[in-house]
Amino acid sequence: MKSRIMVFERPLLEAADGPVMLRVFVVAGDDYAVMIDTAMIGFEEMAAEAIAAIKQQGRPLAMVINTHAHHDHIGLNDWVKTRVPALIASHAWGTRWIGDADQNYREFVLAYPDLIQDSEELQSTIRATMGPGTRLNVGFFGGERLDLGHARLEMVDLSGHLPGEVGVLVTDERTLIMGDAFTGLTMPFFHSHVRPDLYRQTLARVEGLVRSGRVELVLSSHLSPWHGPEAIYGAIASRRRELDGLDAAILEELDGESRTLADLWQRISQRWGKAVDFRGLNMIDSHLADLCRRGLAEQAGRWYWRV
Ligand SMILES: [Zn+2]
Repeated sequence: MKSRIMVFERPLLEAADGPVMLRVFVVAGDDYAVMIDTAMIGFEEMAAEAIAAIKQQGRPLAMVINTHAHHDHIGLNDWVKTRVPALIASHAWGTRWIGDADQNYREFVLAYPDLIQDSEELQSTIRATMGPGTRLNVGFFGGERLDLGHARLEMVDLSGHLPGEVGVLVTDERTLIMGDAFTGLTMPFFHSHVRPDLYRQTLARVEGLVRSGRVELVLSSHLSPWHGPEAIYGAIASRRRELDGLDAAILEELDGESRTLADLWQRISQRWGKAVDFRGLNMIDSHLADLCRRGLAEQAGRWYWRV
């Protein structure tokens, strides 16, 4: 059986173990095609290749499915829409961030104005990579099905990296196409997650799909594919170790010592050898909230301590 999945990629940045890619995907059925993610400004050539492939297949583009509302996955939504008519779909959580690029930037990058100030570098690497916002036409939560004509898709809730993210399971090919749900562990910054609780559920959900035989291959936006149960279970286990390791490191820093978010952000980023940036800040704050919710830490004002 010929695969219905087409992959378009370019190098994005260098990580400790080699280049990190940026990809978009096209799944073409007999009746319709979908494009998964649009990449960002600077990657027009790659998006154009995907559009050309869709046009060559001669199928209408049913929708663009954004895996999640980060700049490098949605940045060319408007660019694509002006070249080929398409509905924009994503996890329903992404409505505001996909619809309003300024709000996206403010809430993603500048959520802690006393700790992160706007800069030319942030403007050029994040804000300038997003075109105008596009209306989210279809909001998914996971479980929705699409039949493209001999290519059946099922949306899978893969939240955790953001509060809302979806993956696309191409059921006949036992292939799960994801954005950043398996976060990169070797990038120079924390690739990050902002809902540790949902991230653990996502890892369990993918594990269940592999165990039931519904997923044999995982493709992602940035990382190398994981082929076969052993590789996928390995990817899940290393993300669980990262989640557990971050909890343990934060609790260690809070042992007999009250600390602020700013202090923990610096210390944990340094311990991990990661850039002290907005992604790490969002992530450490989310772990603190999760530890407090689980009764392992407490907060009063700016201060956190271990219980
Ligand atoms: Zn992302």
